[in-house]
This record gives sequence, structure tokens and C-alpha cells, in this order.
Amino acid sequence: MKLVVRVKLLPTPVQAAALEATLHACNQAATWAAGVGFETKAQRPLQLRKHTYAEIRLRWGLGAQAAQHAIKKTCDAYTTLKANLRNGRYGRPGSRRHTRAAGKPIAFRPQAAQPYDDRMLSWQHQARTVSIWTTAGRLKNVAFTGQPGQLEVLAAHRKGESDLVCQGGKWFLIATCDIDEAAPNTHPAGFLGVDLGIVNIAVTSDGTKHSGRRINRKREQDRTLRSKLQKKNTKSAKRRAKKHAGKEARRAKDINHKISKRIVAEAERTGRGIALEQLTGIRERARLRKPQRTTLHSWPFAQLGSFIAYKAKKAGVPIMYVDPAYTSQGCSQCHHTARHNRPSQAVFSCRVCGFVDHADHNASHNIRQRGWMAWVCGAQSTAPELTLIA
Ligand SMILES: [Zn+2]
Repeated sequence: MKLVVRVKLLPTPVQAAALEATLHACNQAATWAAGVGFETKAQRPLQLRKHTYAEIRLRWGLGAQAAQHAIKKTCDAYTTLKANLRNGRYGRPGSRRHTRAAGKPIAFRPQAAQPYDDRMLSWQHQARTVSIWTTAGRLKNVAFTGQPGQLEVLAAHRKGESDLVCQGGKWFLIATCDIDEAAPNTHPAGFLGVDLGIVNIAVTSDGTKHSGRRINRKREQDRTLRSKLQKKNTKSAKRRAKKHAGKEARRAKDINHKISKRIVAEAERTGRGIALEQLTGIRERARLRKPQRTTLHSWPFAQLGSFIAYKAKKAGVPIMYVDPAYTSQGCSQCHHTARHNRPSQAVFSCRVCGFVDHADHNASHNIRQRGWMAWVCGAQSTAPELTLIA
């Protein structure tokens, strides 16, 4: 399976200037090529190369590889645009959005990503440096850093192209890794149901609870601080607010990695699959008081779901996504479903059979049962193909 690892480059000021000039040159060249492609209708790599290659090399000083990649990037962008136009993403033909999108050449931002292949970029994993082509010549010993686990994956499995990008003044390489998957478990002994929530980030049908209390309290504090800073509206306050937002995102990611790792390990150890709710369901079904609502909308559920999905895929653990309707109101014992079964956020109490349980635990059982039923009925495991882990 393919995974994407993002490492941060730590260029010296001189190196950073060279990278910036390079990225700008590549994107200017690509934008110019896009103009030529638009005029001449040459939007396939071979045709467009004929019209643009020589001039790109001459005018922007791009090397042979870089010029080819800039041209290919342009063609790929046109292919995507055409597909989007065809699929109605810009409305109907003749509509204003459609006409606007189709009626002008593609333009690239000065800092848009530029692909690098192995001839333009080499990795020294031991030294944690790369040697990278720029318009000012080859830069050697550009340091990079990343999370230890990801650097291991990178060293062992990196394959093919990487993208150079600049985000918020920082430099990153986004590398594709090809990872061996365990053989998929085609005969799971059952499913582990996982209920994702706010008060509890994840509760499994085995009864393992990943509480959100501590993290939610911290998030609340962060939010208060941020709104204070925003009111201040000075430059340094803005900077601090931004820094805090980054910190919170990193903390959430770290927690999501830990939770997903434990859940997948448990399913793998016991030879089971994992059942999750379809992620769109979480927001729709939750009825919460106002202070919790902000927490709900900003907790990165989608990220937790995708972490579980790729870790499961890697381990050969099948994943089923189930319909989230009424998982929190249905009784996992007698299947009686009613809103009154849920007297409070935390408690499930069946009005028919009298079964009482923690509400999220009851929900995780419903998810487990639905996952198992779907599997038995012959549905395919539905883990997504490619996941960004960085
Ligand atoms: Zn019941």
C-alpha cells in the first residue's frame, strides 16, 4: 500500500533562498506552459513538450528533469480540470462557473508543489540530509527532520517521486512510500465495534474507553486563550494564536495515532475486523449543548478514522463502515430503538428489556453487530486506498 510521509526541511538561509527561487521558476515555467497548452490545445506531455521544453530550459534555467516535470504537472492539471468539468464540479456547461473554469489557462501559485524524482533528489537517511537540485545548482546537506516512526518508514520504503512544497514559510518534502501489507484476514473471527465521540474519543465493544476528558479540557483552555489573543488583535498576539493552533493540531494527531494503534493491534491480536461508523454520521447524530458543539466540530474525527483505516490495511485487518443511523438509540440486546432509551449523554437504558449500559459502549456493540452483518452478507472491506500520515 502507498503511504505519504512528510518531512520538514531545515535549510540554511542561503539554501532556503535557492529553494524559493527554484520553486518560483518551476511554477512560472509551468504557468507559461499552461498558457501555451491552452492556446495550442497541446495538453498531453509529448505534444506540450514539443512546444515548450526548449524554451523552459532556456528561459527559466530548469534542468532536463525539472522541465519535464513542470510540463507533466501542467498536463496533469489539465486532465484533472477536464475530469472536473465533465463530472459537473463546475456546474453545467454554459454556466458562469463552468465557462470561467474552462475559458482560461491554468495558473500555478508561486509556491505550488513541484515533483522531484531520484535524479533530482537523493536521500541520506543516516545523516538526515538530502541533496536536491535547484536553479542555483545542486544543494548538498540540506537537513531534514520528522517523527522517528515516519523516518523509519521513509528509510525503508521510499519509492518514486517526492514533492517539494513551501507552506507558511516552511519547507517540506512529501515522499511516497510503498509499504508491504500483511495478507488480508479474509476470515475474521468477528468484529471490534468502535464508537467515536466527544466525551469519549473512542469506545470499543470490548469496553476499552479512550476518554476525551483531559484533552477536551486542554482544548477548552486553548480556545479561551486563542479568543483572548484574537481580541487583542496585535501582530504578536496573532502569531501566538497561530502557534497555539499548530500545537493543538499536533497534540490531536499524536493522540489519534496512539488510539488508532491500540485499536488496530487489539483487532489484529484477536483475529477480528474493525467496524466504524461512516464518518459523516458523527456530526449529524450528536445533539449537544453549545459549549460542546465547538469541540465536536473541530475534533479531527476524520483523521482518527483514516489512521485506523491505514493501520488496519497495513496489518491486514478488514474494516467495515456501517450506517450510523440510530446506533446510539438502539438497544444492543433486544434492538428496541427509541430516543427515550438514552436518558442522558452517558447512560443507555432500554425501555423494553431494561438493559442498562454506558451509552457509548452500547453504541459500539451496535456498530460491531452491523459490521459483522455487512461482512456476512458479502460486502467488501472498505478501507481507503491512500492516506496521508504526516
Ligand atoms: Zn432492550
